[in-house]
Amino acid sequence: MQKDDCLFCKIAKGEIPSTVVYEDEAVLAFEDINPMMPVHTLIIPKDHYDNIADNVPADTLGAVFGAVQKVAEIKGVVADGFRTLANTNDHSCQTVHHLHVHVLGGAQMNDGNPSK
Ligand code: 5GP
Ligand code: ZN
Repeated sequence: MQKDDCLFCKIAKGEIPSTVVYEDEAVLAFEDINPMMPVHTLIIPKDHYDNIADNVPADTLGAVFGAVQKVAEIKGVVADGFRTLANTNDHSCQTVHHLHVHVLGGAQMNDGNPSK
């Protein structure tokens, strides 16, 4: 199920272009338009959920997090390491309210700094 006027639903439907990194029946991974790191890819479920606390079915969570390894391998960041995060609502500065997981890497990050 998708939501009208949701940016990432439109990206999932191909109505707004994105640079696709990985895609299967359930998820789409694409490059962040404003990368914070040399590698900054977003993974979304094709169905709309506001965030990770929106009663997301286990199979959808499995598809999203299962894609993390695929994206990390495609981007070549497994050996050096990468960071995976999902923001939820205001305190985390979630700006797009369609569940997405950031995959960040390609350079050294600060220990314990949850910045993205
Ligand atoms: P949030 O702050 O909600 O966790 O992350 C939203 C992310 O979506 C940001 O890193 C932002 O750069 C990215 N973003 C916002 N609009 C677009 C867009 O139209 N296309 C792409 N590819 N990324 C976007
Ligand atoms: Zn959506």
